[in-house]
Amino acid sequence: MLQIENLTKIYRGGKVAVDQLNLEIQQGEFIAFIGTSGSGKTTALRMINRMVEPTSGKMMLNGKDITKMNAVTLRRSIGYVIQQIGLMPHMTIRDNITLVPHLLKWSKEKKDETARRLIELVNLPPSYLDFYPSQLSGGQQQRIGVLRALAANQDIILMDEPFGALDPITRDTLQDLIKDIQLRLNKTIIFVTHDMDEAIKLADRIAIMHEGKLIQFDTPDNILANPANDFVKEFIGSHRLIQQKPNVKTVDEVMIKPISITIEKSIDEAIRLMVEKRVDTLFVTDGDNRLQGYLDVEGFTGARRTMKSISEVYEKDVFYVKTGSKLQDSVRRILKRNLKNIPVVDEEHRLVGLVTRANIVDIVYDTIWGDEEPAAATKEEAAGIAVIEELIAQ
Ligand code: ADP
Ligand code: MG
Repeated sequence: MLQIENLTKIYRGGKVAVDQLNLEIQQGEFIAFIGTSGSGKTTALRMINRMVEPTSGKMMLNGKDITKMNAVTLRRSIGYVIQQIGLMPHMTIRDNITLVPHLLKWSKEKKDETARRLIELVNLPPSYLDFYPSQLSGGQQQRIGVLRALAANQDIILMDEPFGALDPITRDTLQDLIKDIQLRLNKTIIFVTHDMDEAIKLADRIAIMHEGKLIQFDTPDNILANPANDFVKEFIGSHRLIQQKPNVKTVDEVMIKPISITIEKSIDEAIRLMVEKRVDTLFVTDGDNRLQGYLDVEGFTGARRTMKSISEVYEKDVFYVKTGSKLQDSVRRILKRNLKNIPVVDEEHRLVGLVTRANIVDIVYDTIWGDEEPAAATKEEAAGIAVIEELIAQ
């Protein structure tokens, strides 16, 4: 529905804000523009409804040249939502919702009908239409702000970091709301954000901008699986790459066979097994192979003479993960708690596998660095960096 060809903006003074942008957007798509500050996102968005006049290039909306449309036709087709979603305090909720339809000179009946239809979408009673913003809670006001963006029934809605200033919980709620409404009304939304999580959550396709250029334009899954270059890789963050790497998704794919011993055995038998298998940890199970705990060589060798059975000395506090759980979670646990390994159990709590620190570090290393040899980082460092990044991102 929207085709953009070689769209370029050079501001007075020579700054190339947008450089030969090419993309095509389909009806009903949710598109997120993302990039570092100053990468040209706002400029690109504002050219689409000609708040900023392009220096060169072409934009076609349903086959019509946008640069040749008159302003009224254009505003009827393309809506714009500014950074802050603030309501007009002296206008009723009805008038706030239908602000843009009012500017577009819709009839009173059509505006009223639209306000009634929309307020139902956010589960507020129609009686609220006569209220003033101050009579609503902050959260309710923000939901009305989202409705206002949709009221004029334009084909395309442009939003420039609409949730940027909100606290995380409110942002999350409004993200869900806008996505829900967008799907229900089959709206085309072009959305600027600098938040990758927001882009992944909302967008059908993400346009990654850098220094005025479009670096990659694809679905979140494809971008995460195949970042176009190092900039994109860095931008999306290694913790997301790990999560998406399809061949290392769950613990089951990397776990090895654990060495275990049943709880009624003697300590001498445990030590003999450790020596034979060359391990310093044994997992303790009951007769049905259900995980009870573990024996660590450092923890009991001194007590060997006085203690007779495993049940007297084994460690009952054992961290484990369930079969099928995400490898990423195990990585985090292992590194954060400085564990040597994590046993994997099935639904019946039976011991089925073991993820070791050593094999995790290998996997994280391969995922982040691939074949490239990192300059300074060791495998351990690389794995640590990934986890720190992930913790920061939460
Ligand atoms: P973003 O929204 O990605 O942060 P912008 O589109 O706002 O980026 O800006 C892109 C580049 O163009 C920046 O370097 C910015 O300083 C510059 N720029 C933006 N608006 C103007 C303007 N009116 N005049 C001159 N330069 C501008
Ligand atoms: Mg901007």
